Amino acid sequence: MKVVHISVEMAPVAKVGGLADVVTSLSRAIQELGHSVEVILPKYDCLKYNYIQNLQETERFHWGGTGINVWNGTVEGLPVIFLEPENGMFWAGCVYGRRDDGQRFGFFCNAALEYLLQSGRRPDIIHCHDWSSAPVSWLFREQYKQSNLANACVVFTIHNLEFGTALIGRAMQFADKATTVSETYASEVSGNPAISPHRHKFSGIRNGIDLEIWDPYNNASIPLPYTSKDVVEGKKAAKKELQSRLGLSQADRPLVGIITRLTAQKGIHLIKHAIWRTLDRGGQVVLLGSAPDPRIQSDFNNLANQLHNSKGDMARLCLHYDEPLSHLIYAGADFILIPSMFEPCGLTQMIAMRYGAIPVARKTGGLNDTVFDVDHDHERAAYNGVEPNGFSFDGADAPGLDYALNRAFSSWYESRDWFHGLCKRVMEQDWSWNRPALDYMELYHNARK
Ligand code: ADP
Repeated sequence: MKVVHISVEMAPVAKVGGLADVVTSLSRAIQELGHSVEVILPKYDCLKYNYIQNLQETERFHWGGTGINVWNGTVEGLPVIFLEPENGMFWAGCVYGRRDDGQRFGFFCNAALEYLLQSGRRPDIIHCHDWSSAPVSWLFREQYKQSNLANACVVFTIHNLEFGTALIGRAMQFADKATTVSETYASEVSGNPAISPHRHKFSGIRNGIDLEIWDPYNNASIPLPYTSKDVVEGKKAAKKELQSRLGLSQADRPLVGIITRLTAQKGIHLIKHAIWRTLDRGGQVVLLGSAPDPRIQSDFNNLANQLHNSKGDMARLCLHYDEPLSHLIYAGADFILIPSMFEPCGLTQMIAMRYGAIPVARKTGGLNDTVFDVDHDHERAAYNGVEPNGFSFDGADAPGLDYALNRAFSSWYESRDWFHGLCKRVMEQDWSWNRPALDYMELYHNARK
């Protein structure tokens, strides 16, 4: 099978959000299954060029009133085609954020299809993502269905419906198959007017995590490499290092980690409540979060100062983006809290489990498909082929969260052996791309039937 992704993001060279990770990790997983995968990406001036191997300009074609330079390179072992319109529309110092983003990306989608046609490629699947490459879906149908590209099928994936629905309905209409990034999110959004008429071709496939990037055994950011067999020692060393680096007391307390964008989606009111609740229960809290909205950032700055003055050695809020620190928190925390209001898939809970940290999560979207409550979800977990692995709650208010958090703390305080058994068990669960990649292959095959 020949798969081509047309995308405006790709990790790590042009990463803004989860879409970038999915394009890279899914492509790698499909490639490992023995298929051919290429990615077509705009050649932004702000690409992280140090992650591109063998970059060279290979050809040039003329389209849409401008010359387009074509560059080939390799990113994370994947062949990538970078399109560079000579009119400079991707020399803006950013991926998103210009007023003409819609036009720029529309142009890119059309140029990418034109390049596929002119270069003589004959992909079986053309996979596009979110509003930014949604135009591929209808442009293909309107302009290329009678061309030499006609054999291809279009798959369209929604990563987060909140990032724009205006173009989604039309992309859904013309795609052969459409997906989103978890089954529960698929059912949650299936009533949306952009999606409901096309439900018959819409399904959810959960994302996975990259086990090489998220590996507690091979990790420069944590003090003692560990696997599920020595999870207790490994996490103890990581907790000590985290406490000492952040100036927290080295007491033996349950430590709750929160690693998140600080936006309404992530349940800010519940995050704040959980911080105080954790302190009330004698636990420690470390929050690593960055807020795109300056008002939220300033609100959390105030909270950080308040906590510093009153609970200095028990809570630390780190209000920036820091990937190495995130690894140490996943490793050092007993619990990772994810109280999202909605969550298309969520990676945090799967990364937490990979590091033996127990997720405490709201039952929504992909969190519902990956976190199974140790007290309530035995049947659902068995149906999904895993053992219960965390604490979860319904509702969007404090009592719901307290119900999960209280049980989490009780388990930690009452039986450390049981708790350590749970940490070992979650580490052994497989949240990689192996399974989702097979699901995508099945979808690609069905699209071609
Ligand atoms: P979303 O894509 O909606 O932000 P996900 O759970 O899918 O949420 O992915 C979040 C990713 O970003 C995880 O890998 C998480 O570790 C990382 N992350 C979030 N905030 C920070 C931060 N402040 N510093 C470092 N990593 C962060």
